[in-house]
Amino acid sequence: MNKKKTLVIGAGLMGITSAYELMLRGHEVTLVDELDSPASSASYANAGMLTPSMPEPWNGPGVYKNLIKSLFNADASMRLRWHAIPGLMDWGIKFLKYSSKPYFEKACRDNFYLTSFSLKKTQETAERLSLDYCRGKLGTLSIFRQAEDFLVKQSLYQSLNEMGMNCDILETDEIIHLVPALSEMKSEIYKGIHFHEDEFGDAHLFCCELLENFIDGGGEVKYGEVVSKINIKNEKLIGITTSNGLIESDNILVCAGAKSPIILGTANINLDVKPAKGYSATTEIQNLKELLPLPVLDDSMNIVFTPLGNRLRMVSTAEFAGYDNSIDKKRIEMMLESLNKILPRVFSRVNKDNILPWTGHRPMSCDGKPFIGESKIKGLYVNCGQGPLGWTLAMGSANLIADIITRKKPAIDPMLFSMNRLAK
Ligand SMILES: Cc1cc2nc3c(=O)[nH]c(=O)nc-3n(C[C@H](O)[C@H](O)[C@H](O)COP(=O)(O)OP(=O)(O)OC[C@H]3O[C@@H](n4cnc5c(N)ncnc54)[C@H](O)[C@@H]3O)c2cc1C
Repeated sequence: MNKKKTLVIGAGLMGITSAYELMLRGHEVTLVDELDSPASSASYANAGMLTPSMPEPWNGPGVYKNLIKSLFNADASMRLRWHAIPGLMDWGIKFLKYSSKPYFEKACRDNFYLTSFSLKKTQETAERLSLDYCRGKLGTLSIFRQAEDFLVKQSLYQSLNEMGMNCDILETDEIIHLVPALSEMKSEIYKGIHFHEDEFGDAHLFCCELLENFIDGGGEVKYGEVVSKINIKNEKLIGITTSNGLIESDNILVCAGAKSPIILGTANINLDVKPAKGYSATTEIQNLKELLPLPVLDDSMNIVFTPLGNRLRMVSTAEFAGYDNSIDKKRIEMMLESLNKILPRVFSRVNKDNILPWTGHRPMSCDGKPFIGESKIKGLYVNCGQGPLGWTLAMGSANLIADIITRKKPAIDPMLFSMNRLAK
């Protein structure tokens, strides 16, 4: 019997994990990407955290105040740029609409189902295939300087606790015991939360290792092919046009990250996803885990420090600035200043001539949940919009979309993430 052909557009976290899961379910899969290497866009140098503990969308109640303030503050950690406003109008109105308390709380719960399922699938896959990606199993630590900030997070976590999320509230001595390098700022810390069930690891390495398994299993990858159009005739899916010509396929799965709406637009499909630019800086530090055994997230400074073997990755900021790829050196300097304030002993070991700056675009949906499912065109599917949680959600989203495409009963209710959920 002929295998069903599925073409996956985009070799980032969503594309590679989905291609792998479809191959396991017996499909003949071709993965196409415009770049020359895997996971080289938003999935390249993210903060590396696998956090079922952080399912909350960025558009929480009151987000509009922060966005308005950020127009006048170049240093804001979540920043809206004036020039980006015209391109954000329609999406932005929805982003604000879905920041209401009831929707926010429902989105947290829906995302939590998928994040916890996803972490299990990531663990199973990593263990079954012996993937090596600087995996850490000690959880993540959030530190708070103000009682108010801590109480806001605590009430959110109490509701997730009822759904099965476990965490420990830590006093300052316990925080220093867990992360010795925080001792210099002990007096500034109010409390911490240790999400001991979270994990961390290098998403790019994970993608490269999983891709090898995909290729060994018979999957095909085409690099350097820009997809310019989805071809549809009489409302029937035919294939795609790329910079190298036409490719026909029974199914097409769009996993092109923040650029997915551009590709889907050629089939007259609107996808409410916009890019949110983020920065990271990575540097080598010998014996890093003695000082920093797990990722530390400073809630008030909105910055994360993650140990990835002997590499330290610092991540902060989100800018709504369109598809701009330029690196603002000031953002990198600000991360180093924060490192000096929060973890001065780690900072003292940084070689300033050996820092890798990076920027990537989180594919942000307007309601804080990914779009996973079939579009209005039969055979045309989407797995996109995981925003700040794409590494955490990748394996779960891949299992969900692969079950939908192969008509198996998914472990997660597909209606929660369907493409037409906002149509009412
Ligand atoms: C600074 C930062 C920190 C983050 N930290 C975390 C974290 O700690 N934990 C977490 O869970 N998530 C994190 N994320 C989110 C996560 O990295 C993203 O959600 C995820 O990488 C998105 O994966 P993707 O496959 O959807 O998109 P991408 O990785 O961008 O992949 C899309 C692919 O499509 C290709 N493509 C696009 N257009 C075309 C075209 N026309 N033709 C052919 N190919 C095309 C691109 O080349 C690209 O390879 C972070 C993101 C950023 C930016």
